[in-house]
Amino acid sequence: MKYIGAHVSASGGIENAPLNAQQIGATAFAFFTKNQRQWTAKPLTEESIAAFKANCARHNFSPEQILPHDSYLINLGHPEQDGLEKSRDAFIDEMQRCEQLELKYLNFHPGSHLRKISEDACIKRISESINIALEATRGVTAVIENTAGQGSNLGFSFEQLAAIIDGVEDKSRVGICYDTCHAFAAGYDMRSTDGCEKVFADFERIVGFNYLCGMHLNDSRSEYSSKVDRHHSLGQGHLGMNVFQFIMQDPRFDGIPLILETIDPSIWADEIDLLRSFQQAV
Ligand SMILES: [Zn+2]
Ligand SMILES: [Zn+2]
Repeated sequence: MKYIGAHVSASGGIENAPLNAQQIGATAFAFFTKNQRQWTAKPLTEESIAAFKANCARHNFSPEQILPHDSYLINLGHPEQDGLEKSRDAFIDEMQRCEQLELKYLNFHPGSHLRKISEDACIKRISESINIALEATRGVTAVIENTAGQGSNLGFSFEQLAAIIDGVEDKSRVGICYDTCHAFAAGYDMRSTDGCEKVFADFERIVGFNYLCGMHLNDSRSEYSSKVDRHHSLGQGHLGMNVFQFIMQDPRFDGIPLILETIDPSIWADEIDLLRSFQQAV
């Protein structure tokens, strides 16, 4: 079973996210549990939590189909103590919000060394940040997103993702969200079927599909191996449609949220229909 959806708006309250997802025919969704550009937010109210759960139940969204995303400000590999502590506190708050909503996952970008510490030192900080957050919470899995490698962002290679996981004590609560645009920009060529076979075989060997908890399905406005993170609508970028057909026909991608973060929300319903149509087209 493929769960397909998009990163929907939660404006007016998180309880609106499942409604917005339902309106585009989605069977999965991503959303922010707070404003993604601010450090702090008011706690979720009991009313909002209850309404969110009721709306999810009414429209058949179970926790396996929901992939909340954390704030863009958080850097779990921050080279400086102040920034690191602020990020760790904010991340725990995000994990706790997911816990309150009885969600299973929290998707986040691993972190950046800001050219002040080595890649290895940064990776160790990220793993330790995850350990601290898992210790402080229950039931929520920390889902690391692969990056395009823009700036000093880490997590652009499968080896780096594996190294972060390696430093996490509770491996039952760490996972990966695979963003197709980011992987392509980072130098994983999924333009042909042979390319897809090879890239995902490497992913299995180096990281392992057992860690795959979700995907971001995005085409890329930036070129192959450019390390530039620019999303595009499916089939309109440099990556092309083939990889999305490949994913929809491969059972290794069953049972996890497959989330569009493509640039034109007005065609999300069509993109979801198109992805669904690929499932039958064997
Ligand atoms: Zn993404
Ligand atoms: Zn991106």
